[in-house]
Amino acid sequence: MSTARAIYRAKWVLGFKDGAHRLIEDGEVEIDGRTVAYVGPRRASAPDGVAVRDFPEGMLLPGFISSHAHLCSHVGDRMMADTGRHDLFSCGFLNYLPAGKDGANFLAPEDPEVGIRYAIGELLKSGVTTVVEMGGEVGGNTDIMVDIAGEMGIRGYLAPGYASAHYHYDTNGRLRYEWLPDDGEAQFETACEAAARNNGKYDDRIRGILVPVEAVLTSRRLLRRTREEATRLGLPITLHVAETIWEFHETVRREGNTPLGVLAEEGFLGPDVILGHMLFYGGHSQTGFPRVNDLELIAESGAHVSHSPFVFSRRGISLEGFRSYTEHGINITIGTDSYPQDMFNEMKFASILGKIYEQDFKAAPARDVLNAATINGAKALGRTDIGQLSPGAKADLLVVDMGRYAFGPMLDPIKSMIHIGNSQCVEHVMVDGRVVVEDGRLTMVDEDALLAEVRKGGDAVYRAYPDYDFKGRPAEAIAPPAFAKW
Ligand SMILES: [Zn+2]
Repeated sequence: MSTARAIYRAKWVLGFKDGAHRLIEDGEVEIDGRTVAYVGPRRASAPDGVAVRDFPEGMLLPGFISSHAHLCSHVGDRMMADTGRHDLFSCGFLNYLPAGKDGANFLAPEDPEVGIRYAIGELLKSGVTTVVEMGGEVGGNTDIMVDIAGEMGIRGYLAPGYASAHYHYDTNGRLRYEWLPDDGEAQFETACEAAARNNGKYDDRIRGILVPVEAVLTSRRLLRRTREEATRLGLPITLHVAETIWEFHETVRREGNTPLGVLAEEGFLGPDVILGHMLFYGGHSQTGFPRVNDLELIAESGAHVSHSPFVFSRRGISLEGFRSYTEHGINITIGTDSYPQDMFNEMKFASILGKIYEQDFKAAPARDVLNAATINGAKALGRTDIGQLSPGAKADLLVVDMGRYAFGPMLDPIKSMIHIGNSQCVEHVMVDGRVVVEDGRLTMVDEDALLAEVRKGGDAVYRAYPDYDFKGRPAEAIAPPAFAKW
């Protein structure tokens, strides 16, 4: 079903030349099968028999790379707006994720396959053509996710996650860590096997990755095992690290170093590692910890940071900042994390919060955040065939409808897109030469039916919340509505 050969013409095309994105007015992209054959100014005529598609008000860009996302419907995250436990500091997910009383599974009433389809749909509709998934949430069976991603057309780094420990709440609601007798070795071996086996599936759209889900749940031994196996298998690594204030202090107490410092001590860091979030370095204003050389260690190692500004801003947390990381020489990429999976939203917040933190309107400009969502993400995955439109690159692209009323006067379409755009403006998306979004709608699934199924699953989870909560409270007690009922 991939396009044999086609020419896309658009009012603007963001092509890639001499090591940087360049804006072409009245541009043209020729697609030959799964790759880009030509990028440049519109040519006088099209070769015989080649279909031409015109986007007179469109801007054609390389597909975005979300370097950190969870493919599920996020029923729990959606409860955590404007609310949460004080003893978890600013963390959202700890409010609902750890297993409840008697090991009850909060997500059990939901169909996980529906959640995966919904999340992939959100990503594609937002112009994300490559996603790095954070360890699966389907009981470790990522083969289901691989097949859904294969069918829906996204490019993805997918594998089961693993850990040495898991969280749970005791009967008093206190957060506990429970270390597995085998230190997570069995999960680790399953994950390595699946990552290696699925690597290259679906015309190489699916790649393997090692995901020790959270640094704070991974023993030093398992960190070292991960490093060894990633090198041996030639697969990248990602994990959550320095994500919560709670985790920062737990790590300092238990390991005697910052979360990043522990990774550095174990020789874990390297150019094949994406550090999910990496907010709380020693010296971040919310840690109460002295400034140490965490950022310098990241830069020296060549590891990358995945930045998800919107999710954390919702919890009153911000990366400090954006420019300060890049000035250290750190490669910043962007992840859509939980909800909404909207790359436009993330780029806008990355720019705005980057300016606020530096108190400088020149910080985190549109150019840098668009690079973060494209070529920086590709670099983090060791690739030059995605995140850019150039001959030989994968035919992964999106078209943004710049003819929308909201865009108004147009001086620079890239700045307008960053400051005004949202994923509703995406009209067309292609991955690997295959059209996955047409006129803003998913081509591989019935969107309306999928949304109805997701709502049904979410309602079932919220209804069953008392069975899971350590005090048996209803969901409304944890997540009160914005206004009282009539
Ligand atoms: Zn995450």
